[in-house]
Amino acid sequence: MILGCHVQMKAPDYVLGSVREALSYGCDAMMLYTGAPQNTKRKALADMKIGEARQLMKERGIPMDRMIIHAPYLINPANSVKPEVADLAVTFLQEEVKRTAGIGAKYIVLHPGSFTTTDQVTGIRTAAAQLNRLGSLPANTVICLETMAGKGTEIGRSFEELAEILSALEHPECYGVCLDTCHIHDAGYDMNDFDGVLDRFDQVIGLSRLHVIHLNDSKNIRGAGKDRHANIGCGEIGFEALLAAAENRRTADIPKILETPYINGKPEYAREIAMLRNRKFEDILNEKNES
Ligand code: FE
Ligand code: FE
Ligand code: ZN
Repeated sequence: MILGCHVQMKAPDYVLGSVREALSYGCDAMMLYTGAPQNTKRKALADMKIGEARQLMKERGIPMDRMIIHAPYLINPANSVKPEVADLAVTFLQEEVKRTAGIGAKYIVLHPGSFTTTDQVTGIRTAAAQLNRLGSLPANTVICLETMAGKGTEIGRSFEELAEILSALEHPECYGVCLDTCHIHDAGYDMNDFDGVLDRFDQVIGLSRLHVIHLNDSKNIRGAGKDRHANIGCGEIGFEALLAAAENRRTADIPKILETPYINGKPEYAREIAMLRNRKFEDILNEKNES
């Protein structure tokens, strides 16, 4: 199982600190933002300790394509209402793609966005048009559109919607998909039948386009359309279904990244990853409530 989690990227050690944090949890993959996800301030690449980070990954035998970048969520390529939001999406994404290439990472996870006051069809069309403004991406960088829960006016809540965006792209070879287990469960897919989910994905999008999996439990029932992540085994998807997804042979080469809640201000990634590797559930939540 290739397992990672969402790690921090902050002073003083930046990307090197991210790799160290991931290693401390027993990860062999990781995901990070290149700066605060809610703003566009970014540090110069030269100050981000990238060389040392890459060296450490090499020493541990972790290939660079297991360092995933997540684009900031202020990017909304589906917004056709406010031109300034649309332009920011394109210009910032352009820089983010360059930064990803500069770091030496490959995959950039991107939320396809929200249609706000228009409609689903317009949102999908707008997202594709905006991404086409990027042109082709630097060699070896791939934007992975994330499957969304369908909260509010989000687009990308079904494989069909993602396929529609992908089919309208002028450089489809630069794009793939990130499947989030919490989001697809909230969107109505049955996580108790992960092979069925993969069959459907294969029919609609093609499994060769799946590059990243976000492995999260969900606080809400299937189909709730909510998007609230739960710790592994502590939510409505449950440990068995998440373990089965993590162990599925068809996705063995794909990194599974945890984005599960912190408890009392601390991440539980080390224990959650150990649970998955040992194939044994421990109820982190109840344990904490009792103590
Ligand atoms: Fe995401
Ligand atoms: Fe996610
Ligand atoms: Zn989410």
